[in-house]
Amino acid sequence: MTASPLPVPDIALNDGTSIPQLGFGVFLVEPGQTQETVEIALETGYRHLDTAQMYGNEREVGAAIAASGIPRDELYVTTKLNNDNHLPDDARRSLTESLDKLGLGRVDLFLIHWPLPTRYDGDFASTWRTMVELRESGGTTSVGVSNFEPEHLDRILDEVGVVPAVNQIEVNPYFTNEAARAADARHGIATEAWSPIARGRIAGDATIEGIARRVERTPAQVVLRWHLQRGDIIFPKSTHRERIEENAALFDFELSDDDLAGIAALDRGATGRTGPNPTTFTGR
Ligand code: NDP
Repeated sequence: MTASPLPVPDIALNDGTSIPQLGFGVFLVEPGQTQETVEIALETGYRHLDTAQMYGNEREVGAAIAASGIPRDELYVTTKLNNDNHLPDDARRSLTESLDKLGLGRVDLFLIHWPLPTRYDGDFASTWRTMVELRESGGTTSVGVSNFEPEHLDRILDEVGVVPAVNQIEVNPYFTNEAARAADARHGIATEAWSPIARGRIAGDATIEGIARRVERTPAQVVLRWHLQRGDIIFPKSTHRERIEENAALFDFELSDDDLAGIAALDRGATGRTGPNPTTFTGR
């Protein structure tokens, strides 16, 4: 039995489409556990799913979508180009394979997962040009990038001239990534914040726990609400039903400006990253 959709606001994208601000991420969900986990998320009312070729679970995400019976136009599905697939023919082939695994005629959003400035002769602009062609040929409604630093955005805008709809970057209270968020905003690109609760590392934080006690919410809910009020798109991951539900209960409370500033002040700069630095990451 599928519950009604959560009351998630839509964020307008620069290509005329829109995306639900809250979704469900499936990084590090084992293929054997993915169908059941995504079914729980859909039952909870999530309608936006974030997967990737790299995660190895697109087929199981597709099985959960098929089993749900939810009409295609009520779902928003993102996948991402794997690091070994940046050459034009590989990108085209890999999107066809992703669609086959997901059981979909098109995805809503296809992203370059990492810019890989030290591979492919640093030519991620050509990869971006291919992504734009894939949008034109209908395999994806929107195209965007992930882990693009401001200089990477400048380069594709100079060389290709098409603005990505989104940039999916690491953002959490310990790595607020303001320079990349500001570059996105300057170009009219929506920011998606990956690992929004720093993969669980926010647990035990005195500032976050203090706010959570006062607003009678959990630390995860406080941090997820912080992202929403800052305007970023998020898709927390959990394989536990109670946390999947907890992470969706974000729409009946608000944080004050002081709370938002207090959480942002936890920023530790680059040492707050949970993942690799995009300027040096080779994708291997
Ligand atoms: P998250 O910040 O969403 O944290 C997930 C971790 O936190 C898991 O270990 C989960 O454990 C735990 N957790 C979830 N909910 C709660 C809760 N309410 N209380 C306490 N712990 C909780 O990290 P992710 O790295 O998964 O990021 C989210 C999504 O972002 C990914 O799934 C993926 O879609 C995307 N992503 C994109 C990247 C990119 O390069 N573009 C990189 C990384 C992520 P458990 O499952 O055991 O509940």
